[in-house]
Amino acid sequence: MAPAATSGNGVRAPAAAQPLIEVRDLKKHFPIVKGIFARPAGTVHAVDGVSFHIDPGETLGLVGESGCGKSTVGRTVLKLLDPTAGTITVRGEDITAHDAQQMLPYRRQMQMIYQDPYASLNPRMSAGEIVGEPLAIHQAATGGERRERVAALFERVGLRPELMDHYPHEFSGGQRQRIGIARALALSPELVVGDEPVSALDVSIQAQIINLLMDLQDEFKLSYLFVAHDLAVVEHLSHRVAVMYLGRIVELTDKTTLFETPLHPYTEALLSAVPIPKYSARNRKRVILKGDVPSPINPPKGCHFHTRCLYATARCREEAPQLREVAADHLAACHLHDDGIKLPLGNGAAQNT
Ligand code: SF4
Repeated sequence: MAPAATSGNGVRAPAAAQPLIEVRDLKKHFPIVKGIFARPAGTVHAVDGVSFHIDPGETLGLVGESGCGKSTVGRTVLKLLDPTAGTITVRGEDITAHDAQQMLPYRRQMQMIYQDPYASLNPRMSAGEIVGEPLAIHQAATGGERRERVAALFERVGLRPELMDHYPHEFSGGQRQRIGIARALALSPELVVGDEPVSALDVSIQAQIINLLMDLQDEFKLSYLFVAHDLAVVEHLSHRVAVMYLGRIVELTDKTTLFETPLHPYTEALLSAVPIPKYSARNRKRVILKGDVPSPINPPKGCHFHTRCLYATARCREEAPQLREVAADHLAACHLHDDGIKLPLGNGAAQNT
């Protein structure tokens, strides 16, 4: 298990004897059907065997380009989607095959914050009803008590309780995301999955929401799975970071190590495209990726990244690299490490063959 790491606010995630959640070789494939007889016409390999854990009070950032499967991971971990294969364990209990009834207690413990705060809020419900709905569904509070708890949640996320009777369209984007956060907190969850929760917001509002999420983590000892494409946001919020490419995790370590010493060519390219000033001291060349992410319907054989990798060899085109520990608490899936290629990359030392 990874050691405690330091987040952007300097708070260390506590070391844990047992992870809050552990995911092993998780796969989520979507069948494609065609015609009125719904004939099978292929499979989208959205998530293709990912493994990670999240400790209590820890934030794991899950980063990658659009379509890499990171949002599907978030939804599958919460069992909003049924996994195709693999296991999901919460505090040591395997919930992979749990039905809706068995999932009820876990629904309380695991909540989600969505990307688009407007689309995710029911426009026909008042903000107070939206935040109080989980309390009603789980019969956690009724009548006056529910309204009091909703008012307290409003205050905690920075909204005036007088706004409880207003409707989503009467709020700004940032306020709507605060409503979504208050709703996610209503049942005192342990894990919150944030699916690009700030990417639809203005930059100034993003900072407020990120700070709110970090304060709430400290106060309620929350664990976050934070799904995002924005490296700066992930860097600010995360203790550890997993980098995804075409359905697979290609690198996973604590955030400082990842940003200072990336050990996967894809991570290196991502970081070089969006340098973060405090990590830019290293002599890192700009790495420009060619082409687009291949389709998850027909992912490339071998290493999924070989069609865009500067360092790809014949082996990469045939054999998928395993995610393994290549330095202390630093996992990467790349054959370079078997071949003793010196790091850092991006120095032109290796070429396509
Ligand atoms: Fe590039 Fe090969 Fe490493 Fe994949 S395994 S990232 S293609 S060098």
